[in-house]
Amino acid sequence: TEDLDLTGIRKDFPLVSEVVYFDNAATSLSPEPVIQSLVEFERNYRANVGRGIHRLTQIASQRYWHAHEKVAEFIGAKGGVTVFTKSSTESINMMAQGFAWKSGDRVLTTVLEHHANLLPWYRLKDRGVAVDFADIRDDYTFDLAAFEAAITDRTRLVAITHTSNVLGVITPVQEVAKICHDHGALLLVDMAQSVPHMPVDIMALGCDFAAFSGHKMLGPTGTGVLWMKEPVIEPLLLGGGIVESVTRSGYTLVEGYQRYEAGTGNIAGGIGLGVAVDYLIRLGMERVRRHEQALTTRVIDGLKKMPRTTVYVPDSPDRRVGVISFTVEGLHPHEVAQRLDEMADIMVRSGHHCCMPLMDRLGLPNGTVRASLGLYNTIDEVDLFLATMEEITR
Ligand code: PMP
Repeated sequence: TEDLDLTGIRKDFPLVSEVVYFDNAATSLSPEPVIQSLVEFERNYRANVGRGIHRLTQIASQRYWHAHEKVAEFIGAKGGVTVFTKSSTESINMMAQGFAWKSGDRVLTTVLEHHANLLPWYRLKDRGVAVDFADIRDDYTFDLAAFEAAITDRTRLVAITHTSNVLGVITPVQEVAKICHDHGALLLVDMAQSVPHMPVDIMALGCDFAAFSGHKMLGPTGTGVLWMKEPVIEPLLLGGGIVESVTRSGYTLVEGYQRYEAGTGNIAGGIGLGVAVDYLIRLGMERVRRHEQALTTRVIDGLKKMPRTTVYVPDSPDRRVGVISFTVEGLHPHEVAQRLDEMADIMVRSGHHCCMPLMDRLGLPNGTVRASLGLYNTIDEVDLFLATMEEITR
């Protein structure tokens, strides 16, 4: 973990001197340059975007547009449309609502999914769309054979997560993409937990749509992204800022991301997300990945030695990100989380993590405790966490 200048990095994140922040899967912290960009927008050039020609709107529009370009480049997008939303949830709902479904279509998803990548598909029942599930293996890895067996020629869209927000497992998106395309299905990948933590090349992966959250990748809250290789969906909202022309009898919409961003969006947030991407690029995602991988292995190895403790992670470090779910026999996950906070100011999540079907699959009605790491976390923090867990499990 020597590659990252953690002392320098940690100066940029005001909260890390107050708490041990191990809840990065829920939302990340923002560094000073991102916080500053929000203040700067409000103070110096606040204006609406894509409208009018005065000086302030030109600066705001240019930076907001440029933030879209930066995000697209960050995920290796060659072409396609990068839409700013408020969250992964909004991105996936936009897909589900805007797609040209035909009755009898099927959506194939997996038992790993966050509710954000399930409920929008469930709701399509009244449009004649059914949802199928692919299972995982008992070692918490993705089951490609089960996936292949579950796909049918009626499958219009496959919606899977790139990395689980409970098990940390990385799914084989490239292989999945090939199977999808062999069956004439399109592929949407939930990248909420991958884009912030590893280099992602969306073209190499072969996905058609990607959803992720700006607020989980050092960006401001209220930011998310939907990337589409081909902008095949109808916009979720219609209104100002997205039209070529409007007459009394109809309208024509503009092309590009603006088509999907009617109304006034989170302008400061979008610009801030661009600054977050600059920050990540400067650190280097390979380095971020290596650092988090080392910390993850340390957490897992430490927890595995503790009495009454079960850790729910895949064995291979190359198949997992820094999301570590565990349970302690005889203690409710909320109790463990509460004690970590009270005893050592350690913030972890507990419960079902918006993944009830997965909890059902794992036989864990109370859910798990989840430590999720970020690039600003340190070995010392991991060791404090492990020492505290040792006391809790003793
Ligand atoms: N998918 C996954 C895998 C997630 O972890 C999350 C956030 N916990 C979401 C989707 C939803 O993200 P958001 O809250 O930004 O809509």
